[in-house]
Amino acid sequence: MSTAYHLKKYNPSLNVIILEAMHLGHGASGRHGGMILPQPPTESFEIAFDIDIHKTTYGLTTMNIKGIKNLLEEHRIDCDLKLDGFCHSIIDEEDIKYYQNYVAKANDAGIPIELWDAVKTQEKLGTNHYAASVYDPNGGSLHAVKFINALKLIAESLGVVIYENSEVTEIIEGKIIQLIVGKQASIVKTRNIVLATNGYTSKLGYFNSRILPVHAQSAVTVPLSPEQLENIGWESRLPFYDSKNYLYHLVLRDDNRIVVGGGDAEYYFRGDLHYQGDINKVNNLLMTDLLKIFPSLKGIKFENVWNGILCMTADEIPLAGVTGDYKNIYYALGYNGQGVNMSFLYGNVIAGMLCNKSSGWEKTPYYNYQSGYIPPEPFRWIGAKFMMEYYRHQDREVE
Ligand SMILES: Cc1cc2nc3c(=O)[nH]c(=O)nc-3n(C[C@H](O)[C@H](O)[C@H](O)COP(=O)(O)OP(=O)(O)OC[C@H]3O[C@@H](n4cnc5c(N)ncnc54)[C@H](O)[C@@H]3O)c2cc1C
Repeated sequence: MSTAYHLKKYNPSLNVIILEAMHLGHGASGRHGGMILPQPPTESFEIAFDIDIHKTTYGLTTMNIKGIKNLLEEHRIDCDLKLDGFCHSIIDEEDIKYYQNYVAKANDAGIPIELWDAVKTQEKLGTNHYAASVYDPNGGSLHAVKFINALKLIAESLGVVIYENSEVTEIIEGKIIQLIVGKQASIVKTRNIVLATNGYTSKLGYFNSRILPVHAQSAVTVPLSPEQLENIGWESRLPFYDSKNYLYHLVLRDDNRIVVGGGDAEYYFRGDLHYQGDINKVNNLLMTDLLKIFPSLKGIKFENVWNGILCMTADEIPLAGVTGDYKNIYYALGYNGQGVNMSFLYGNVIAGMLCNKSSGWEKTPYYNYQSGYIPPEPFRWIGAKFMMEYYRHQDREVE
């Protein structure tokens, strides 16, 4: 929807349609935890390439967040967008040195983040579960489904036509691409397409050796009572996510419900997209860890627990570019679990590629990046299982 919006913005005469297999928000965008974060995943509190690139990606991604805010204001749509910043909470004391170092380098480059000790972290987040945290004033949270609905309204107001229940089952490449759509095998002919199908993309036969669909989970509590709110002491209401591999992310929504997600993830053989987990176990896992963070919430219930599909790449770098013999199959995907802001940004990057507009992203090595190779099955499943178990082991060490 971001690509569609940006395409119409840059060239109102373009005929832009969205084909959605189920309904808007069926994918990760309707299921995420609501954190809107600067930086691509590889640059989150680490310098993947060099400090200049780090500074550039920080600048472009924070500008993108401001662009979302301006767009929602312009259309007077409320998505519970809060941009007071967020925290990256540090679990292991031994990691503090790393973050001291990182914050010093980032500050030198003009990135306005702060390292908070355990006392200040508790003062702001209410929990004594963390050894420290890094506060970033750029970023925050929004309501996933409200944001989807907002983008729908905005895109449609510009003339984008959205077809739901319209699964693309086959892409026949050519100068004019033919898309086979739905049970009736309708044919859509077009000059260019954009694959914005994230974790579902390999089902269409693209990026099989570049991406992994991984199943993750989130839950939302019933609304907290005024007494529960006071007891947890999360006065700043700043969203936060922790420093584990299977990190937890927490957002205190405007309606006083806590959205908590993370804790574990799973890859199924051959990239099976059907969820095979046990949602009761997920409920218990998320509740146990929520209570470690806020013990005074003992007895609280989740109103809803759900899963969703993330799109992982071998090197955690999201992909935006163009492929196919006719160079008319554009793609934006692989956000590695950090895609609320990035998918909006990549919509702009792709629209820019198609309409000859600079998004600024072409100044970074992330533009048209060729991500690492992921071997075929069964090696992919064995490798994924091995890595996931290794990450779980590392996480247990710091608990
Ligand atoms: C549980 C969970 C929590 C998360 N929390 C956060 C968070 O707090 N912050 C953050 O930044 N990121 C988070 N993420 C990641 C973020 O949600 C995603 O990166 C982002 O929403 C991806 O958006 P997208 O539009 O590219 O893909 P999706 O939202 O997955 O959309 C892809 C769409 O394509 C459709 N589709 C698939 N195949 C076809 C086909 N053949 N034909 C037509 N349509 C098709 C699907 O139905 C789907 O609606 C989370 C993800 C999950 C799963």
